[in-house]
Amino acid sequence: MYDVLIVGGGGAGLTASMLLSQLGVDHLLVSALPTTSVLPKAHLLNQHTMEIFAGLGVAGAIYERGTPPEQMRHSGWYAGLAGPDTDHGRRFGLVESWGAGGLAPAWSSASPFLSTNLPQLRLEPILKEHAERMAPGRVRFHHEVTAFEQDADGVTATVLDRSTGESTEVRARYLLACDGGRTIGKALGVTMEGARDLARVATVHLTADLSPWALDPDVLIRWLTLPHTGGSATMVPMGPTRWGPDSEEWVVHLNYASDDPRGLDDEQVTADLRDALGLPGHPLDVHLITRWSIEGVVADRFRDGRVFLLGDAAHRHPPTGGLGLNAAVQDAANLAWKLALVLSGHAGPELLDSYEPERRPATARNVQRSVENALNHIVTGQILFGGAGSNWEQLRRVWSGLPEDAEHARAVRRAIAAQSMEFDEHNVEYGYTYTSGAVAQDGTPEPCNPDPIRLYQPAARPGHPLPHAWLEDDAGRRLSTHELVRPGRMLLIAGEDGHDWCAAAAKLAEDRPIDVVRVGHCDGDLLDVRSTWVRHRGHGPSGAVLVRPDRFVAWRAQESGDAGAQLEQALRAVLGG
Ligand SMILES: Cc1cc2nc3c(=O)[nH]c(=O)nc-3n(C[C@H](O)[C@H](O)[C@H](O)COP(=O)(O)OP(=O)(O)OC[C@H]3O[C@@H](n4cnc5c(N)ncnc54)[C@H](O)[C@@H]3O)c2cc1C
Repeated sequence: MYDVLIVGGGGAGLTASMLLSQLGVDHLLVSALPTTSVLPKAHLLNQHTMEIFAGLGVAGAIYERGTPPEQMRHSGWYAGLAGPDTDHGRRFGLVESWGAGGLAPAWSSASPFLSTNLPQLRLEPILKEHAERMAPGRVRFHHEVTAFEQDADGVTATVLDRSTGESTEVRARYLLACDGGRTIGKALGVTMEGARDLARVATVHLTADLSPWALDPDVLIRWLTLPHTGGSATMVPMGPTRWGPDSEEWVVHLNYASDDPRGLDDEQVTADLRDALGLPGHPLDVHLITRWSIEGVVADRFRDGRVFLLGDAAHRHPPTGGLGLNAAVQDAANLAWKLALVLSGHAGPELLDSYEPERRPATARNVQRSVENALNHIVTGQILFGGAGSNWEQLRRVWSGLPEDAEHARAVRRAIAAQSMEFDEHNVEYGYTYTSGAVAQDGTPEPCNPDPIRLYQPAARPGHPLPHAWLEDDAGRRLSTHELVRPGRMLLIAGEDGHDWCAAAAKLAEDRPIDVVRVGHCDGDLLDVRSTWVRHRGHGPSGAVLVRPDRFVAWRAQESGDAGAQLEQALRAVLGG
């Protein structure tokens, strides 16, 4: 009997496999298709995700192949790409994106890792190779779960080896449904709540030299406003070695109404692509056209007995904001350590009850944000083309500089600036917090945030992500607070006068997986040279912060009085058992 059966080898399943391997949890991953995704799909990898990948030792390979930070500093709005008009391809809007490749201090100081960009098509093989290396023989593609049932002690699944046609039964204590919502949730009667079929998208993956027309090497996503149709298209470079206007490959998303049959016909989509780009005769080598429907849905439950839903099996939403794949990876990071501690007996089974109350609100918010991000693009289009005159006339008023056009130009600029809700949604990506039985609140109020979408405010408050601070050891080596958290282990960060905490944690470490470190500006095991930790920790010299293995704050104490009893109580509250 395995401890865990993972169904699905996309971002959620492969990350779960690597994390469980790192935690020493015996598991099997099966995935229906022979290979990882052949579709470009998601591409943005945010800071939380890169922290998780760094902890697994796979971030370096991803950064190496991903978009350099300076080539994803902005998102741009253009009057089409090419065409007969001298204004074709003109840029009329620019929004700083994902911390401007590290230039925005709020982003570069939030985490030791910057966001990056690597299409799923190229990311998944890296993850798969790493997962296979960490669990030889336990990552089986071309194996499909065709049926399953659960009882009080475990789950029994029928796994079809699609190469041989043979089926075998696999028994595991827990099952992780990382199947994109295709099989397991449906069989359990899980309902996806929310809006479906908001629009249809045809995504074209092509090789083409667009460098004569594409501008701006610092722009990653190009929003093409098409004056001749009043519609829009989105262009994203695919690399693999160049990411600016001279990218070898591209993805172009074309939108169709849900009932528009044109989007279903490859020839029509290719014609629409040429029309959108304004390149009727230019060589374009189309690799693949895929269709997908935009929805914004969340599962009514993320757990059913011994089955947990992760990734697209639990939540699916528009790509605006790039939260889908990231949420899948972060679901796995939330659950893996809990499974490991429960399976090893270091935590009570009630710890697993915290998965749904933590991940469902966080991902439901992602869904809401992604839908609102998508809607704001429509609003921008309406402002651009909602007035009198032809589309070109209205578009030219944005840059004419004429006094009579100033109001229109200003309205368009404001609408585009508001799209920072998508490209600068730092608090949505990074600052989300948890409230559950696996977090012991300390009675402090939620800090007031003037912009809960864009502003991430680091705070070592229970339920919040561990603030990143650069610390120094006695050899002068720089370490992030994040590097102090070891896989599957709690971490107590005591203040500079927290000797009692150190003694208490050392004693409890005989039975509980807990490490301890003393941190202060002038004294401690590690020195907080920039006073960043002192600024965010929210306690005095003898207080302490307890951090979970997923680098979220579990508990905080102001004083070290009766440290042993306080800490024992906190661990019992958070881990159960
Ligand atoms: C065309 C397209 C474009 C997208 N673009 C973006 C984007 O730009 N930005 C963004 O954030 N998100 C985007 N997404 C969404 C993003 O790709 C998903 O959020 C992400 O792939 C979710 O990962 P996952 O591991 O949960 O599921 P998936 O990647 O869907 O993986 C599920 C896996 O489970 C396997 N499987 C299914 N059933 C079984 C079974 N019975 N037995 C065994 N294996 C099974 C499948 O073969 C697959 O390998 C896009 C999605 C699509 C389809």
